[in-house]
Amino acid sequence: ATPTALLVGTGRGAQLGIVIRGPQILESTRRIDTVLLDKTGTVTTGKMRLVETVCAEGTSREELLTLAGALEHSSEHPIATAVTTAAREVTADLPPTTDFKASAGFGVVGTIADREIMVGRPGWVGERMTVPEDLRRRLTEIEGSGHTPVGVGWDGELRGLLLVADEAKPTSRRAIDEMRSLGLNPILLTGDSKGAARRIADEMGITEVEAEVLPQDKAAVVRRLQAAGRNVAMVGDGINDAAALAQADLGIAIGGGTDAAIEASDITLVRGDLRDAADAVRLSRRTLATIK
Ligand code: ADP
Ligand code: MG
Repeated sequence: ATPTALLVGTGRGAQLGIVIRGPQILESTRRIDTVLLDKTGTVTTGKMRLVETVCAEGTSREELLTLAGALEHSSEHPIATAVTTAAREVTADLPPTTDFKASAGFGVVGTIADREIMVGRPGWVGERMTVPEDLRRRLTEIEGSGHTPVGVGWDGELRGLLLVADEAKPTSRRAIDEMRSLGLNPILLTGDSKGAARRIADEMGITEVEAEVLPQDKAAVVRRLQAAGRNVAMVGDGINDAAALAQADLGIAIGGGTDAAIEASDITLVRGDLRDAADAVRLSRRTLATIK
């Protein structure tokens, strides 16, 4: 391949906000047949909001939100922001937390006024605390709702569920349609619940979904697809995507992404628009076609 044409290709990319690490990346971009898409912050805006609260018998909504918000105040997860924002609407001051600990992919724990509080995946909270029968029933119903259930427990018992949701970015559906018309196979990859992943996938017309994948297991999903002979691009924005971005045949960090995601990637999309991922593939094909 002539180096000049490749440089023109990467230069054209840069003008479009598609920053390509080096001219040789265009070749790996052209070969991609599968695109793994992180959900939160990549396909969706990454801004979550509280949709509903479900309290166990004997627990008030105010108490549930105050304690959950006080604990989540120390976390930067999109769920934490949604919970803290909702808590501030029911109380002026959130009590202080000690012994705060975050478990990536699961949730957070801490002590508030001598009580051990947990906020996170209901299954994770349920392994350490008892789950009242009414909440257990609700959890089954919630799966179909497409919302993410967040469990809140203290004093050894699950006390309620906070249902949160995020929305697709306005251009995501079009971007994924474009990927398909380029012959690429989109797959949604997320640590979020199966129900929430399914809802976004349906909206996007995506049939393949990998949900409830722990941060450390995202790279293993990439390896499994590669072992099946696929040429895999991964698009992501978070620290928890970094290993998968590095493992992929092509790592694409999307705008607003963390430094860890950008460093692990071959291409950075400066504007947070997923359509630029389809444009990168188109650009690589055109550039290399000119050379041949
Ligand atoms: P994603 O792939 O969507 O970025 P994560 O791996 O960050 O997902 O989180 C996976 C799941 O772990 C969340 O859907 C949530 O149930 C739980 N979780 C993680 N961090 C928190 C937190 N700070 N508060 C509540 N739940 C959390
Ligand atoms: Mg993300």
